[in-house]
Amino acid sequence: MRMEKTTHTQTSFFRDEQSANSLISDRFGRTFNYLRLSVNEYCNLRCIYCMPEEGVPFRSQDKLLTTDEICRLIETTSQMGVSKIRFTGGEPLLRKDLLELIQLVHEIDGIDSIHLTTNGTLLSKQINSLKDAGLTGINISLDTLNPEKFNSITRGEGLDLVLDGLEKANQSGISSIKVNVVVMRDFNNDELLDFIQLTKENDVTVRFIELMPFDAHQIWKTGKFYRAEQIISDLKKQVDELVPVNGSRTEHHIFRKNGYKGKVAVIPSYTRNLCGECNRIRITADGKLMNCLYSQNETNLRDAMRNGSSNEEIGSFILDAMMKKHKDGWDAQNQGNDNRESMTQIGG
Ligand code: SAM
Ligand code: SF4
Repeated sequence: MRMEKTTHTQTSFFRDEQSANSLISDRFGRTFNYLRLSVNEYCNLRCIYCMPEEGVPFRSQDKLLTTDEICRLIETTSQMGVSKIRFTGGEPLLRKDLLELIQLVHEIDGIDSIHLTTNGTLLSKQINSLKDAGLTGINISLDTLNPEKFNSITRGEGLDLVLDGLEKANQSGISSIKVNVVVMRDFNNDELLDFIQLTKENDVTVRFIELMPFDAHQIWKTGKFYRAEQIISDLKKQVDELVPVNGSRTEHHIFRKNGYKGKVAVIPSYTRNLCGECNRIRITADGKLMNCLYSQNETNLRDAMRNGSSNEEIGSFILDAMMKKHKDGWDAQNQGNDNRESMTQIGG
């Protein structure tokens, strides 16, 4: 059984169809219209900054949200003003019902865009079906263009597959294509120019991302951390004619090399100076809402649904959780002291 096309609940709790603004807000005046859902914890790679080689204790299938539960959460939040969805993981392309999920979410009123973050290894064969299902944006994670380095960072293989996926994505007509590069000292900081070359002929955004402290082995403490400001300064030294342009909300540092089709962005995901702009709600693969990437507090929406809560009750849990959001990721992190074992437990 799958959902009918959205029926708006007639209470003042949900927005009326005319209202374009999100009803989900916090104490600091931020509003939230972007929902990032992890749909899988498992992955076919083991990136050294993300997962231990042996993996993490993956939850059994029955603990993860079902297709219907994911759609129900998206429908509920869409009625509260969420308009942008991102499916992430683990590796979302390993989830068998992903295509069906995208088709269903595409039908939900109020959802303007559906994005995917993927390691790209399984992309090339699926890209056209994903687009036909309603996918509007894709972020491909790729940290190096060197095959040996690729194998060492991912503890797997498949650079050729990822590059093929990227090429097919460029040909597919999907409107937003981004390449996520976690930049690290003494690993890939010598590849900035090579990555910028990807923007020459293609309208892609290459995003250089700061390493974050979400891995069991804490490799970010080993001197590999490369601060956003330093990345920007090194980019400006190495690349002529980098012109500032506009980007998305977290892409304040965004440039285009003159004459190139695509863009280059730097994302300060560790230094966290863009928290004032945050518009994101995160839900883990097992249905826990997190109001910040760095928060240790979770609201269990899966159990609420399985225990019979109405959509309105679920909506009020979401509102309460977002109201408790801290001013920034530093405050959020200071409230707890355990370190996550992997980004896959949060949904990157
Ligand atoms: N498997 C998919 C992928 O790799 O794109 C989706 C999930 S992955 C957890 C999402 C993003 O999180 C990837 O771009 C990955 O590079 C990033 N990520 C994971 N661990 C990170 C860390 N410790 N610091 C910075 N980014 C990280
Ligand atoms: Fe897998 Fe993505 Fe984590 Fe790499 S970053 S191990 S591809 S989930």
